[in-house]
Amino acid sequence: MFALTFLGTSASVPSAERNHPALLVEAAGRRILVDCGEGTQRQLLRSGAGFRRLDRILLTHAHLDHVLGIPGLFSTLGLRQTSDVMTIHGGEGTLEIVIRMLAGLWGAGRAPIAVEFAAVTEGQVIDAGDFTIDCFPVRHRDTDSFGFVFRSPARRHLQSDRLAALGVPDGPLRGELAAGRPIVIDGRTIDPEDVLGLPSGGKKLVVIGDTETTDGLSKDVADADMLVIEATFLDRDAPTARNYGHLTAAEAASFAAVNGVNQLVLTHMSGRYEDEEILAEAARIFPNSRIAADFDHVVI
Ligand SMILES: [Zn+2]
Ligand SMILES: [Zn+2]
Repeated sequence: MFALTFLGTSASVPSAERNHPALLVEAAGRRILVDCGEGTQRQLLRSGAGFRRLDRILLTHAHLDHVLGIPGLFSTLGLRQTSDVMTIHGGEGTLEIVIRMLAGLWGAGRAPIAVEFAAVTEGQVIDAGDFTIDCFPVRHRDTDSFGFVFRSPARRHLQSDRLAALGVPDGPLRGELAAGRPIVIDGRTIDPEDVLGLPSGGKKLVVIGDTETTDGLSKDVADADMLVIEATFLDRDAPTARNYGHLTAAEAASFAAVNGVNQLVLTHMSGRYEDEEILAEAARIFPNSRIAADFDHVVI
């Protein structure tokens, strides 16, 4: 299961309703920030999430609308005297910019909290046991951009009717079966296979930040339960989208449609359009589309 809180959903320029980009993903008790636009720390407070258990930031790229919130957040975490190490994952070029930004404010290696920088290349970012994060390169102007795939494995759950039929009492014996180990009751051996159902609940979430094309991204996005992706422009401004290295809502929707995505969430909205016209353009091509708003909370 993944719980997403959209903390900022604007493109380069914020509006009264939309903050600069940031997305909080919660999984198995862990909290991960994807991008950290200016003002993200206050958005974390306003969303009710706060700062606890937040020890990892994934950066899609280093354009200022996606990273300027890092110094403010670190300053606040420093005042709270947190002892946790914050790990920032991103492309090497992205991390270089962030390291320079922090060094400009506090001196090299002297940020107010302990920070680890972990450069990503294509492949696995972390294996947290209950879920994994992988990354893949994305083309967006002259940046070192990455998209991220969150996966939680399918699990086999105990079937209560079979447990009852076989007389397995509540308690540690059920835990043994759930863990895949056989048990013995009154001389009878009960195998996990006797009481476990079919695998279910595996989820795939894909988050793509700014991107100038969807070419080459299909294998990473295929069959995602949810795709979060930018849609900065509408089709009528496709040439402008090309010039600035962004997608149109129609392009994002077509990409979701041909890759077996279940739900599409569009973000990085430009203030030049009404939400309704963006949604209409996407939904014509991919009906299960929605436009993210700040503080939207979505669970998959
Ligand atoms: Zn952006
Ligand atoms: Zn950008």
